[in-house]
Amino acid sequence: MQSKLLINGQLVAGEGASLAVLNPALGAPLLHINEASAEQVDAAVRAADAAFAGWSQTAPKDRALLLLRLADKIEAHAEELAKLESDNCGKPYAAALNDEIPAIADVFRFFAGASRCLSGSAAGEYLAGHTSMIRRDPIGVVASIAPWNYPLMMAAWKLAPALAAGNTVVLKPSEQTPLTALKLAEFLAELFPAGVVNIVFGRGASVGSPLVRHPKVRMVSLTGSVATGSNIIASSAASVKRLHMELGGKAPVLIFDDADIAAAVEGIRTFGFYNAGQDCTAACRIYAQKGIYEKFVAELGAAVGSIKHGTQGDASTELGPLITAEHRQRVAGFVERASAQAHIEVVTGGKAPAGDGFFFLPTVLAGARQSDEIVRREVFGPVVSVTPFDDEAQALAWANDSDYGLASSVWTSDVGRAHRLAARLQYGCTWVNTHFMLVSEMPHGGLKLSGYGKDLSMYGLEDYTAVRHVMFKH
Ligand code: NAD
Repeated sequence: MQSKLLINGQLVAGEGASLAVLNPALGAPLLHINEASAEQVDAAVRAADAAFAGWSQTAPKDRALLLLRLADKIEAHAEELAKLESDNCGKPYAAALNDEIPAIADVFRFFAGASRCLSGSAAGEYLAGHTSMIRRDPIGVVASIAPWNYPLMMAAWKLAPALAAGNTVVLKPSEQTPLTALKLAEFLAELFPAGVVNIVFGRGASVGSPLVRHPKVRMVSLTGSVATGSNIIASSAASVKRLHMELGGKAPVLIFDDADIAAAVEGIRTFGFYNAGQDCTAACRIYAQKGIYEKFVAELGAAVGSIKHGTQGDASTELGPLITAEHRQRVAGFVERASAQAHIEVVTGGKAPAGDGFFFLPTVLAGARQSDEIVRREVFGPVVSVTPFDDEAQALAWANDSDYGLASSVWTSDVGRAHRLAARLQYGCTWVNTHFMLVSEMPHGGLKLSGYGKDLSMYGLEDYTAVRHVMFKH
């Protein structure tokens, strides 16, 4: 397994503390890797800073070509990358191979094309005798900090737009799931000029924090928890760095009496439990209208109870483990506190199964109330709550009554209702009669505590640029 860091075009062993990297389905180490030392973090940022002058002046078509070659490399090594991802995260191998790798290659291809289409919005004479134009230029060194739930995909979401726009990058994958990013480092070393992309490994406190605080870093892009986001926002106040924050979520799912109930049940079985529910858009906060509530809860309980958990390589596995023992403890704590309340019914699951690994059974909690912790806080596990509602106004008010604002969905056969709600839901995305689907052309990002800035799409590319005015006197 490739376990070296990428600094200034060289693959080098970390010189910091040794950390265990686990297989969460067994709860056992896959290997140990040394994190970057303080000197190595500094060297990575300095390499990125030195490479900026050259990379930022390359023609978009040349940057695009390298991104396209990277996409080809990822596809050529699809099985190896999917195996690493699945071993390190506990994901079913087939999901990593068939769902994630094609989407990852597509992100690099989308931004390769997008880099050639970036445009300023105006050129004209706004003052007599002067011509003004707008440019969109790269910002400088970007520190990109990724989470553990989709390690290679989050690396792609961060690297592709930053590089396409002409920035240089120091990427830190999660200390829990570094293996695919470190494999990617091999391809990057082969394809890109030294220093344009650097990859360092290590924990938030020892490597992430000095990286984001480094004075030569001009922008920080984080996908992670609200706590980490707040910490980085506070620590970058004095240096006024550009920030891009993709934080947590607690997606409301509004199911009306007139919805296709079988489709809604199937949708939540899939989109509430994909990646063991460790997804910021997971369909986890369900509101079901009273006319169909009983039937819906019964059908959802049966459907979710049939989800098969297991190890990565078993072709019948639908649900993998949680990422660590500590995270499973946290998820179990939410479920224990919820199920101790008299009005909440554990329809299925509710506990960890016997055996090795950090598994938690897929869980449906019915009868939850708007004020309950299980409705208000992000669990980030295979747990959904169901709350009955009376009418559209109540469903909308409860859906918007949240600290989060990332994703939402409405399930109804009434087109007018779907439009009304889509216009009023305070979320970065609203799906109608589906959930969770993403495409490279459309933006992904939140409101409120879910953060700011967009991933994917032309908006994502623009986030990694500065708007500049250039004026000519005639
Ligand atoms: P986390 O915040 O614990 O860690 C995220 C990354 O930040 C890791 O690489 C970590 O090492 C690093 N980090 C931690 N403290 C740091 C510091 N002080 N300075 C710099 N870096 C630091 O999050 P996680 O547990 O890895 O991921 C789960 C969270 O991510 C959930 O809340 C989830 O909702 C969120 N998430 C959001 C999106 C989105 O698109 N909005 C996508 C995936 C995950």
